[in-house]
Amino acid sequence: MGPTRRNILAGLTGIAAAAVTRGAWAQAAPGPFTLPPLPYAPDANEPHIDAQTMTLHHDRHHAAYVAALNNVAKDNASLAAMPVHSLLTKLADLPDAIRTTVRNNGGGHANHSMFWQVMGGRGGSPDGDLLAAVDRDLGGMDAMKVAFSRMGVGQFGSGWVFITVDPSGKLALAARPNQDTPLMEGGRVLMGNDVWEHAYYLKYQNRRADYLAAWWNVVNWDAVAARYAQAKAGTLTI
Ligand code: MN
Repeated sequence: MGPTRRNILAGLTGIAAAAVTRGAWAQAAPGPFTLPPLPYAPDANEPHIDAQTMTLHHDRHHAAYVAALNNVAKDNASLAAMPVHSLLTKLADLPDAIRTTVRNNGGGHANHSMFWQVMGGRGGSPDGDLLAAVDRDLGGMDAMKVAFSRMGVGQFGSGWVFITVDPSGKLALAARPNQDTPLMEGGRVLMGNDVWEHAYYLKYQNRRADYLAAWWNVVNWDAVAARYAQAKAGTLTI
């Protein structure tokens, strides 16, 4: 290994470096956690979300979270036995040495698995009991979008903004830093948007508000409605 490569690697740390050097990006990592395929072509959300961003985001960023999680699970059999939404409620029970890795990469895996599902649509509005719940709990679609986007802009640094859903079908807005998720408190996520710069920087640069506004055009409300039905049936996981 030449000095340049050694210097590059020295700038990386731990599991992320291991994932890169093994070439784990963009391919299935061995282990219990798997990268779900994008449920549509990478250009399905053009022009609002560009294909290059979608490809990098799924094939590199999400894949790296899965690879890092599998790397930890390899030496911790109890992790491998749990689905990720269960694992995320047990962070306090984990050994100190792996807790932050599982929090960041398990959260990243769950958040992105949800994220791909709720995109690929044409925006617009839900109907039926989901629309009624938005009206009842979030002040209607227009007010919800304003508040959701404001929370996304206001999230300092990296993070997510979510609509959460409880088993009765009640909705609420929530923001979390990094790859944290309401799943970590035993909650459920109806939908959410990623406000890490990697989600929008190629097309929108620093204009996060423009990205948040454009994102509504690609929400798949049929998929969100299906998640809402699952939440009320008690079968929604990530
Ligand atoms: Mn992301």
